[in-house]
Amino acid sequence: MKITCIKLWHKSLPLAKPYWLSGGRLKFEVLDSTFIRVDTDEGLSGWGEGCPWGNTYLPAHGPGIRAGIETMAPAILGMDPRRTNHINQAMDLTLPGHRYAKAPLDIACWDIAGQAAGLPIAELMGGCYPTPTPVASSISTGTPQEMLAEIEDYRERGYRVHSAKVGADTVEDIERVRFLETHRNRGEVIFYDVNRAWTRAEAVTVMNAVVDLPVTFEQPCETLEDCLAVRRLTSHPISIDERLDTLADMTRIVSEGIAELINIKINRVGGLTRAARIRDLALAHGIGISVMPTGGTVLADTDAIHFAQTIPDPYRLRVWSCQDMITVDPAPGRGARVEDGMLSAPGGPGLGVAPDDEWLGKPDVVYSNENSEPV
Ligand code: MG
Repeated sequence: MKITCIKLWHKSLPLAKPYWLSGGRLKFEVLDSTFIRVDTDEGLSGWGEGCPWGNTYLPAHGPGIRAGIETMAPAILGMDPRRTNHINQAMDLTLPGHRYAKAPLDIACWDIAGQAAGLPIAELMGGCYPTPTPVASSISTGTPQEMLAEIEDYRERGYRVHSAKVGADTVEDIERVRFLETHRNRGEVIFYDVNRAWTRAEAVTVMNAVVDLPVTFEQPCETLEDCLAVRRLTSHPISIDERLDTLADMTRIVSEGIAELINIKINRVGGLTRAARIRDLALAHGIGISVMPTGGTVLADTDAIHFAQTIPDPYRLRVWSCQDMITVDPAPGRGARVEDGMLSAPGGPGLGVAPDDEWLGKPDVVYSNENSEPV
């Protein structure tokens, strides 16, 4: 089987409401998404989506995905998409780094491999654990009462896991954590996600002020060095999110004991192939794993849940879903859909969802290799 053609669509995804991240540092109202269709000489096509969470969250850039694909497409045209390690090596040789630009191509290749094998991606990647995965809400920083009101909205929709954004003023953060923990329902989980906003001193101050509470903090500070320093002076479990980019980062987290939990964002780490390497190292050391797309439509949610379902209980902590935060839907009623606060991988072969032709319109760019076999 050979890749014969790569089609690319650029789409704007308006958010249902503007989003502020941790302390109001970052605000955006629309996501820049790139959809990829990889065609083969055997008639199978695979889909991938690349959608950064705005341009200011992490070093990922919507136009950068499209520029990266323009550079890498010639290197993988003619290759067998089922050979995902080979595809990733070819992309690395052509364009070192830029993992977020590689993710949609990698995911599209897994979609094709799954269709060729007649298996969902979760089965193809080692086997799908059948229990559904809780979806975490995303609670913007606000007054304690505002944040609780937002949690209550999610509770009514069945959500039992919440990611509450903190990281503004230390006194107010202590109040937020204490208030929300006082109003947390039995069986409910709240991750306090700092998104790198605290200094070391602020992290130690807040975390040690709530040392009596059984809570977890995500990405308290900017760097792994900062998080390690905080780890040594505090006792709460720490989750690393934005500073887990590579297998080398994961090796460091394990060997230096920086965190007890991690959050793998599929697009940030470069797709499913690289995510699986990080997953296996984490599991070998008893580290709990959350899985998320960085943003995007039901396509991104669906590749994330396929991967999440390869993680056994109790190491599989939560996923996040972006589909309800945007105002467009490229595949209404299809793919992984949030039901009662839970998400499950679809059972069909491959990714199990593709965008509607009508919604997509004509591709913005088509890459093909004249030497490839015609479809
Ligand atoms: Mg996070």
